[in-house]
Amino acid sequence: TSANDDLKALVRTIPDFPKPGIQFRDLTTLLLDAGGFRATIERLVDSVETKVDLVAAIDARGFAIGGAMAEKMGAGLLLIRKDGKLPGATIAEDYALEYGTDRLAMHVDAIAAGSNVVLVDDLIATGGTARAAARLVARAGGHLVGARFIIDLPDLGGSAALRRVGVEAISLMEFP
Ligand code: 5GP
Repeated sequence: TSANDDLKALVRTIPDFPKPGIQFRDLTTLLLDAGGFRATIERLVDSVETKVDLVAAIDARGFAIGGAMAEKMGAGLLLIRKDGKLPGATIAEDYALEYGTDRLAMHVDAIAAGSNVVLVDDLIATGGTARAAARLVARAGGHLVGARFIIDLPDLGGSAALRRVGVEAISLMEFP
């Protein structure tokens, strides 16, 4: 990960967002930097060694990253959205937040049977979001070849939880 210290320096930390005590890792500053954005996408793409049919990107920051990756990889782009946004028939999965739950959805017919899919989001913390997305991909008939993130917060256990369910999880950098 020290190879990505140039990119890590472009991430801004905002204290007490969205509430007191949370150190929010703000990637907007990395995306605003042309060279940083390009290098981020290149390094994420290079980390995917299997040929994939689809990049499954998680609402909403995952869309920016996954969209750029999919174009470079010659893959299709699958938008995994917050529930209630998609017009067609959907499947949905709930996941736990600190207080309450949230729900991700995707079009039920989005994945051709047996397609190779890589999951992408900006950051993994507890892994609740990514695991819900992984369940959707599996239910829709996709073969999840891995998950990619710019940032891992390993102390929150999400990347370890993904690996426990057999998902290869790779991130460009970690923050405590
Ligand atoms: P998890 O479900 O793994 O606990 O949380 C990950 C989700 O919350 C991701 O979709 C991510 O965008 C968002 N998230 C949680 N903490 C942060 C943070 O510090 N910075 C950013 N950019 N996103 C966060």
